[in-house]
Amino acid sequence: MPVVWSDRCLLHDPAAEIWVGTPTPATEVPARATAIRDRLDARVVDAQPHDDAVLLAVHDEALLAYLASAWKEWNGAELPQEQVVPYVFAHRELGARREPAAVWARPGWFAYDTMTLIGPGTWEAARAAADAALTAADLVLGGEPAAYACTRPPGHHATRSAYGGSCYLNNAAIAAGALTAAGPVAVLDVDAHHGNGTQEIFRGREDVRTGSVHVDPGAGWFPHFLGFADESDGSNLNLPLAPGAADEPWLEAVAELVGWAHGVAGLVVALGVDAAAGDPESPLQVSGAAFRESGRLLGSLGVPTVVVQEGGYDLATIGALVRETLLGLEEGRA
Ligand SMILES: [Zn+2]
Repeated sequence: MPVVWSDRCLLHDPAAEIWVGTPTPATEVPARATAIRDRLDARVVDAQPHDDAVLLAVHDEALLAYLASAWKEWNGAELPQEQVVPYVFAHRELGARREPAAVWARPGWFAYDTMTLIGPGTWEAARAAADAALTAADLVLGGEPAAYACTRPPGHHATRSAYGGSCYLNNAAIAAGALTAAGPVAVLDVDAHHGNGTQEIFRGREDVRTGSVHVDPGAGWFPHFLGFADESDGSNLNLPLAPGAADEPWLEAVAELVGWAHGVAGLVVALGVDAAAGDPESPLQVSGAAFRESGRLLGSLGVPTVVVQEGGYDLATIGALVRETLLGLEEGRA
């Protein structure tokens, strides 16, 4: 299947994230994207620019405006921290009604964590990632059975009006919004972490179902506040797994998601490969062979499919894991 790529997705290079108040080395790095791309031998298609108006189907205008200008206004304020990071948050109990005026307070209106920094290339890269997802959707709407957006920063933790979890724009949700032009869509998220942003964006929508298999947030894993089974309803299915879960329960969950999605006209796969054994960001223990089988299961739906890259942090293995999943998807469709 065609691989959509943009060099601009490499421009976001935060170097660090602030975790429990302390700078730690960034794991969501540009080398992730090149490590994956270099393991694929499919046709590469350049991401095409799309108008901001397309993004408004899933994001608030205020979030887009903030992300587009955040680095410039922060840099102009000569603050001690080089990259944009919040120090106050608009907690719901405040009942806040307006964006704060101070440059150093403004990120707390839009961000929900301190690890998702904004630097000089962040907006351009996030925008390129959305363009890659939209270009993959265009290819599929134009008749390609499936297309893969090989991109970063990832997107599934970004909500309609907030960024966090190393995500700025919800690329999978943006692709799903485009695919609804051809009928109802399912977004199935196999990243090791719950796709909270996608769930929130499509909550209550009848034309987009969201399903996610992920490590149980109740066991202490990001996104902590969301991803529990009891959030499931007619348009959402959460399948949390215990830390240490390996191939069998993970594949059973993927199969359940696929069965639940039957009847849709289009599929978006939020493809994180951080559920793999050995990934530093999750305690799940999934094998490469199981990723191949997950691809077969997802492909068996037999509907036009956009695959969007989410997490996966072991640079030595993520390329092979994505390759296995995409090969499985093609086998499943055959
Ligand atoms: Zn993840």
